[in-house]
Amino acid sequence: VDVVNAEFVKSSVKTEDCPSDGIPEFALVGRSNVGKSSLLNSLVRRKRLALTSKKPGIKHFLFRLGFEISTFRSEGTKVLFIPRCKKKGKTQCINHFRINDSWYLVDLPGYGYAAAPHEVRTDWAKFTKDYFLNRPNLVSVFLLIDASIPAKKIDLEYASWLGQNQIPMTLVFTKCDKRKKKKNGGKRPEENVQDFQELIRGFFQTAPPWIMTSSVTNQGRDEILLHMSQLRNY
Ligand code: GDP
Repeated sequence: VDVVNAEFVKSSVKTEDCPSDGIPEFALVGRSNVGKSSLLNSLVRRKRLALTSKKPGIKHFLFRLGFEISTFRSEGTKVLFIPRCKKKGKTQCINHFRINDSWYLVDLPGYGYAAAPHEVRTDWAKFTKDYFLNRPNLVSVFLLIDASIPAKKIDLEYASWLGQNQIPMTLVFTKCDKRKKKKNGGKRPEENVQDFQELIRGFFQTAPPWIMTSSVTNQGRDEILLHMSQLRNY
């Protein structure tokens, strides 16, 4: 189940442009700053990992278009470019990474970006919802929730929408290594996780699977990969 090979395939701006080979895929989505890049990085980073991009010019090309690009270094020398496509605060790309030549990890635009004007936020909503509803090889959406803070309205709305539309979902709680802080509601991550599940109970016929993670300690990394492998074999 481990990641031995991860390759950036493409950034798409609409569902129809996504890769069409039909291999199973898992989408990561969450509020901006939830820890999505860190988790993605921790999922694909391994000593033996070959991080490659078949399109060497893509970084330069996207940079010229004004996109913000994150670069992830493996412990070897090869580099994986992750175009986050944050053009003037907009995140408008679906990024596909092919894992072990057999399935995709998909990085979706973050939501709830405070600085984004209303119409951009509405665009995001349409854009990702279209992907959720019209992507037959999407096995499960991994909804990232920050476990170091109390539930946010926008996260509850997102979970509710996924539940109502019966989109298969896995809850991934991030930042579980963080200690409780008064300014963050004074609860431990475990308590926030429990509260969140309580709050979304009514949205689902059966409670979605959930995994507690930390990109600092790597907690949950193997559990996520195992869960994805089990879902692929159903
Ligand atoms: P994104 O906007 O969702 O891609 O979030 P990032 O991965 O860029 O992370 C946002 C911030 O949260 C950064 O300052 C990270 O260092 C921090 N962060 C991300 N994951 C964790 C985690 O598991 N534990 C802790 N303590 N901090 C984290």
